[in-house]
Amino acid sequence: MAKRTPLIAGNWKMHKTVAESVETAGQLAKMVADARDVEIMIAPAFTALASVSQVIRGSAVGLGAQNLFWEEQGAFTGEVSAPMLVSAGCRYVIIGHSERRQFFGETDETVNRRIGAALHAGLVPVFCIGETESERDAEKTFSVLDKQIQKGLEGFVSEDLSSLVVAYEPVWAIGTGKAATPQQAQEVHAFVRSKIEERFGGAMAESTRILYGGSVKPANVRELMALADVDGALVGGASLDAETFSQLVHFNA
Ligand code: PEP
Repeated sequence: MAKRTPLIAGNWKMHKTVAESVETAGQLAKMVADARDVEIMIAPAFTALASVSQVIRGSAVGLGAQNLFWEEQGAFTGEVSAPMLVSAGCRYVIIGHSERRQFFGETDETVNRRIGAALHAGLVPVFCIGETESERDAEKTFSVLDKQIQKGLEGFVSEDLSSLVVAYEPVWAIGTGKAATPQQAQEVHAFVRSKIEERFGGAMAESTRILYGGSVKPANVRELMALADVDGALVGGASLDAETFSQLVHFNA
C-alpha cells in the first residue's frame, strides 16, 4: 500500500503578532514551493488567521486554527466557531492539545464536541492525544491513550471521520527537547492504529494519518518520519522560524 501523504503541521501557539505571522507565513510559502508529496499546515493565533490566509493563498501551505468552540454562534464571549474559522480561510483545526487539557479544562467530552463541530463545518480535525510523564512511568500509556481515543471519537462512524488526523503528542516530549525515541513512537503509533481498526475497521485504520508531536527538530525528523506508522509531525517550537520549519517540510528531499 502507498504510504499516506505526510502532513507537517506547525502550531504557533500564543506567538507572533499579525505582522510577524504574515512575514513568517510569506517566507515559508516561498521556501516550500518546491516541496513534493507532503501536505503543510500552519496554525497561527486567531488574530492572524485572516491575514495569513491572504499571504498563503495559492501556495502549498494550508491554514489551521488552534482550537474552536462547538456552537456555531451565540452568547459565548471569547469563543470562535467552526464556521468563523472556515470564513477566515482555515482548512484544519487542532483539537485537544495537551496545553488546552492542562490549562483550560479541556476534557475528552469537550474534545468530542469540538471534533463534531469541525467535521460538520468541513474542517480537518487534528485530534491530539498523549500521556503525561507520570502516566508513562506508571505504565499507563496505553490505557490513557485508549480512553482518549474512545471518548474523543465516541458517537462517530468511520464515514464521519474520513478526514480525521490524529496527533500523538507525549506530554513529556512537548517543548522539552526530549523527543520520543523512534521505538517509543512506533510502538504507540501502531497501538493507536490498532485501536482505530478495532473501532472503525481496517480501511479507516489504513487511511488515517497519525502525526507525531513533541520536540521534532531538523535533527530528528527524518528518523521519525521513516517509521511505518508515523504519517507526519505536529511541531511547536521548530515551526516558528520559516527556515527551520521548511527543513522539516523537506524531510524527504
Ligand atoms: C506542540 O506543542 O504541539 C509541540 C509538539 O511542541 P514542540 O514541538 O515545541 O515540542
